Amino acid sequence: MKALLIHQHGGLEQIRFEEIEDPQIGSGQVRVKTRATSLNHLDLHILGGLPGRALALPHILGSDGAGLVDETGEGANRFSIGDRVMLNAVLSCGKCEFCLEGQHSLCVKLRLVGENSSGTHGEYFVVPEANLRKIPEPVSFEEAAAFSLVFQTAWRMLKTRAQIGSGDDVFIHGIGSGVSTAALRIVKLYGGRVFASSSSDEKLKLAQQAGADFCYNYTQTDVVKEVLDTTGKRGVDIVVDTVGNATWIQSMQLARKGGKIVTCGATSGPNPATDIRLIFWKQLEILGSTMSSQQEYQEVVDLLAEGKLKSVIDQTFPLSEGKKALQYLQEQKQFGKVVLVV
Ligand code: ZN
Repeated sequence: MKALLIHQHGGLEQIRFEEIEDPQIGSGQVRVKTRATSLNHLDLHILGGLPGRALALPHILGSDGAGLVDETGEGANRFSIGDRVMLNAVLSCGKCEFCLEGQHSLCVKLRLVGENSSGTHGEYFVVPEANLRKIPEPVSFEEAAAFSLVFQTAWRMLKTRAQIGSGDDVFIHGIGSGVSTAALRIVKLYGGRVFASSSSDEKLKLAQQAGADFCYNYTQTDVVKEVLDTTGKRGVDIVVDTVGNATWIQSMQLARKGGKIVTCGATSGPNPATDIRLIFWKQLEILGSTMSSQQEYQEVVDLLAEGKLKSVIDQTFPLSEGKKALQYLQEQKQFGKVVLVV
């Protein structure tokens, strides 16, 4: 099969679209004939090499995918050949205390498809059957491939960790990324107000069309002052910060007293300046989050099936042009997900 892979870590020049052996299936596994996959920032982190993590090379990138069941391994009997399926990339051990409590994203051996095992950006991918769900009927392969990783992440961040309430005010930094646009959809599902920032007027216009209530171009305006004016000096209930270095202090200034800051990433760097006085004086809660449990994943897939949540797709590229698509992602030009079609 053809796949998007790397033989060594580095920059985009390391991305190859090459012929490689078809993946073989083992017991409990399913082989999926890929119809669509989507890019995540994780792809770029893995391309660059994660510290202390040795990867078997060559490595196929990709942690989101959708397609047709092509073959089922021994003991894998939940799906029939030809079923339309979508992937949940979380690989948990199923045996540790956290897995037994249903907290799969806390698994002591947490792994991800595409990070610790071969990924989805190929004509086929092989995963345990427990990681697949049937794609709800009206949902396309592209929408399904754009959905799983970012919506399960944003769902756990907002619902489980920050315990979003009906009508909450939520600030989202750097609107346009997959997780931030998924977060926007979830806040609107809860009837909350979305405050969004970006350096791009074009992205802010799209955010407004997607339901954002207040949009700020941080290169032209004092975001903290504006938000405090809008909220009568109160601040917002929840700040979604996936940016890190560039926004962390602002996040603490934007949150109301007793408010929450929830993070699942740090695209501008992981070591921001902080201000402990703001944390104790405002009694802030700083919450980390990653991926989701199987239950949380099922909840977002159910909401997708009911039409209450919908993927945000920026544009699609053919799998063969994956390198170009990754460059587009690296330049942060997108609003929503970048999808590869096979
Ligand atoms: Zn476990």
